[in-house]
Amino acid sequence: MNLTEKIKAKIREVKDFPKDGIQFKDITPLLKDPVLCADITDELMHQTIKLKPDAIACLESRGFWFGMLIAQRLQIPFIPIRKLGKLPYETDKYSYSLEYGTATMEVHTDAFKKGQRILIHDDLLATGGTASAAAELIKMQGASVCGFIFLIELSFLNGKENIKKYCPDVVSLVGY
Ligand code: AMP
Repeated sequence: MNLTEKIKAKIREVKDFPKDGIQFKDITPLLKDPVLCADITDELMHQTIKLKPDAIACLESRGFWFGMLIAQRLQIPFIPIRKLGKLPYETDKYSYSLEYGTATMEVHTDAFKKGQRILIHDDLLATGGTASAAAELIKMQGASVCGFIFLIELSFLNGKENIKKYCPDVVSLVGY
């Protein structure tokens, strides 16, 4: 099996979670396989090193799992972007629309430096709303997005089209 097949074999599909009609891609079975996790980290690292990021911004919470491993491998800072109310220090905020209502993402005001190249990482790209919010927070602090990296992309939701305006380099290891 190649890496894509190995990853797909360890993704559990959970029907109607967190609400009816959603096919949730649960990556926790994959996290129990340390050899596969190391291979995934290697691949994510190889795909991102050429983008020359100064730091990696990772989205709560499943973006933290591989995000810190990539940061360590690339020897760059790990920056958490979190849901409203979780970060202790002063924050910048960005709100965006969901199917019903809005969501707000936050980052510490001293997270990014002007002119830095920031890589955005999450476990999964769906509509691209969360990754776009991260890109807006990065722009707000005078840095720029040098790429996006996901484990999984739900291509039928066209998220890539929504985030390409921030940076055309969008990588995902498996697609549905
Ligand atoms: P979006 O903002 O629509 O691109 O959604 C991406 C965020 O929602 C990521 O943080 C994902 O972890 C989560 N997400 C959305 N859809 C799914 C899904 N079908 N399975 C697992 N996570 C999902």
